[in-house]
Amino acid sequence: MEKVLLIWDIDGTLINSKGCGRRAMDKAFLKLYNIKDGFSRVNMAGRLDWQIVRDALEINNIKEDDIFSFLDNYGESLKEELIKNPLCEILPGINEILVETWEDQNIYHALGTGNCEIGARLKLSHLGLDRYFEVGGFGDEDLERWELIDKVIKKASEYYNTNFKKENIYVIGDTPLDIECGKKLGVKSVAVATGAYKYEELQKHLPDFIFRNFADFHDFISIIKDIK
Ligand SMILES: [Mg+2]
Repeated sequence: MEKVLLIWDIDGTLINSKGCGRRAMDKAFLKLYNIKDGFSRVNMAGRLDWQIVRDALEINNIKEDDIFSFLDNYGESLKEELIKNPLCEILPGINEILVETWEDQNIYHALGTGNCEIGARLKLSHLGLDRYFEVGGFGDEDLERWELIDKVIKKASEYYNTNFKKENIYVIGDTPLDIECGKKLGVKSVAVATGAYKYEELQKHLPDFIFRNFADFHDFISIIKDIK
């Protein structure tokens, strides 16, 4: 088996944080700018935190663009939200996939997420998943999602000292934007309907593989391991 790189989205793919991220963003916005529900008109699914915050500032006519200080404040609010919210959960099959592939010397994991790094690490460590992801790309920069994923591939190749072939790289996510990344970069896309989009909607974007969820985790693992 050749070496495989799995690039994971977080929200709607690995976990469901039950709106903690959005509430923490709103809370930070209220604290900094004294505006309630600052993100109510901002689409978040599949997008980078940097773009999401920039949109909220624009929509609310705030000229200040210190997105880094906003993200620091967001981190503080997110910590509080996660502690308050016992309903956050790991999505079906994810634990099993990570446990089963972690020891496999040919399977490598990376994060490719729109979450800023502090947000990603807080959400994952809250649910005990952080340890699986030593490397990743995050939404702290003004990038398109596919550019972020391209950076993840480069970072992971360097980190693991492995030149992953394109056909052995999988971008796994719950939105059309995740699928688009796979297509744009010429790598495989795996869509899972455990987030903001229904199975039928994701199907229209023609991912290489599609799952309703990963409850039958062996199906996912057999796809990854079938690569010769
Ligand atoms: Mg997602």
